[in-house]
Amino acid sequence: MKLIKNEINDFNLRLKNAIDNDLYFYLQEIASEIGPKIKTSSGKEYIMLGSYSYLGLSAHPKIKEAAKKAIDKYGSGAGGVRLLAGTTPLHNELESRIADFTKKESAILFSSGYVANLSTISTLFGKNDYILIDQLDHASIIDGCKLSGAKFRPFRHNDMNDLRLKLSNADSFENTLICVDSVYSMDGDVSELPAIYDLAEQYGATVMVDEAHSLGVIGKNGRGIEEHFSYKISVDIIMGTLSKAIPSIGAFIASDKATIDYLKHNARAFVFSASLPPSAVAAALAALDIIENEPWIIQNLKDNYRFFIGGLKSLGYDTLESQTAIIPIMTKDEEATLKFCKYLFDRGIFISPIVFPAVPRNQSRLRAHVMATHTKEDLSRCLEIFSEFKP
Ligand code: PLP
Repeated sequence: MKLIKNEINDFNLRLKNAIDNDLYFYLQEIASEIGPKIKTSSGKEYIMLGSYSYLGLSAHPKIKEAAKKAIDKYGSGAGGVRLLAGTTPLHNELESRIADFTKKESAILFSSGYVANLSTISTLFGKNDYILIDQLDHASIIDGCKLSGAKFRPFRHNDMNDLRLKLSNADSFENTLICVDSVYSMDGDVSELPAIYDLAEQYGATVMVDEAHSLGVIGKNGRGIEEHFSYKISVDIIMGTLSKAIPSIGAFIASDKATIDYLKHNARAFVFSASLPPSAVAAALAALDIIENEPWIIQNLKDNYRFFIGGLKSLGYDTLESQTAIIPIMTKDEEATLKFCKYLFDRGIFISPIVFPAVPRNQSRLRAHVMATHTKEDLSRCLEIFSEFKP
């Protein structure tokens, strides 16, 4: 405890400093529905640029109704792990709907995206295996690799030459996995999946993608990266979350039936952890209905993020290579990021500051998330406020 005490003290000094200087933006209480505009507990209204609820479905009446009905029928909690006493017809229905939606044979639910990545990678891969991950992959993929005991190496972001180089010693391992995000959660750019797929074929590697920020966001009908590339590729394993475009909680893995059956009986986070509450499952099912039947919502989201990225670029902001609803606004300096964030908060924009350790120190930024339900007036108002900022 002595060692960690130093770290705790150092951290608390930094925390106090940020609070004293009015530059602390975390753990804000949001006291309204999550939509294009929100209210915090102070009663102040903000234009929301900080939510993963990309399709703006979080307060959709059909989804709320479905969740309430599930509570009426099944109660508040599932009361067990899936294998034993925690499976309702809703759980099985959602897995089968997800398999159809992702065009895979079968699917399994987990309690979160973090847990799905952690548990799947560590269940399927072990100490004789080799895992290559993009250097910007999500923390849960890195943690899954660590837990697996496999040898894992990051390759430079979206750099196929580096991936090829690192694949050249794949022969000395039993199995090789290439695991990437479809849309990168800090940069908002899209994985070079067709090239990754070709390399994987060449080296006999398995491909897994994390579709946390691509489902509902890219692809003609919001079905993610395979649809984005017109189904010219078919990855082996898809991880998708139920807490972003789909406004619930939980996640899934979709793959071939044999792999999913294996996970259902061997993934420790599935076998030894409680099942998702039926109301969350019902909400996810209702969201899938909307995504499948109302494609104009996805088109709205695309129009909105293209409009906002274009607007920021024309004001001279660096948004990296983002082509999606995640839009970095680079400041490259922690203090500058926090001051910019305060400027925006004071003017009614709720946005996330992203600083070390989430990104390297010289890559600090604000990160905006655009929603399908933002109006052009909301986004234009934000651009106007951004245009008035003088660093
Ligand atoms: N994968 C990516 C790329 C993410 O951005 C996140 C969370 O934001 C996760 C996985 C974890 O998902 P969850 O929040 O459901 O645990």
